[in-house]
Amino acid sequence: MTIEDFNARRLAYRRSQVVPGLAFFGLFCAAGVVTVFAAKRMDRVGLDSVGVGVLAASYTLIGLLMYYVLAWVPRRRLVQLGLTCPKCGARLNGLNPSVTASGRCGCCDTQVLESR
Ligand SMILES: [Zn+2]
Repeated sequence: MTIEDFNARRLAYRRSQVVPGLAFFGLFCAAGVVTVFAAKRMDRVGLDSVGVGVLAASYTLIGLLMYYVLAWVPRRRLVQLGLTCPKCGARLNGLNPSVTASGRCGCCDTQVLESR
């Protein structure tokens, strides 16, 4: 991979992260909606086991989806774009600035970019 190709892939990665960011924000709002519904239900019928169960299940599901959106989706996209080290699997994007300077992985020193 050349440095130009590497930079193009990094740009594509950054652009692709808008969708997971919006999904995370949507899930955050969904947690607020669930809380409002739970508060209204508690005002009507009080604290009962159905309300607590639905609330706990909703928060668990929303939390798992938030984790998926923030941890797994970006990692999968990095692998799809070839922005991980082929030897050690370390990220080669912005957190590892030595890649653009030396063309080598900052973790295991494997040559990942073509020499100039
Ligand atoms: Zn490496």
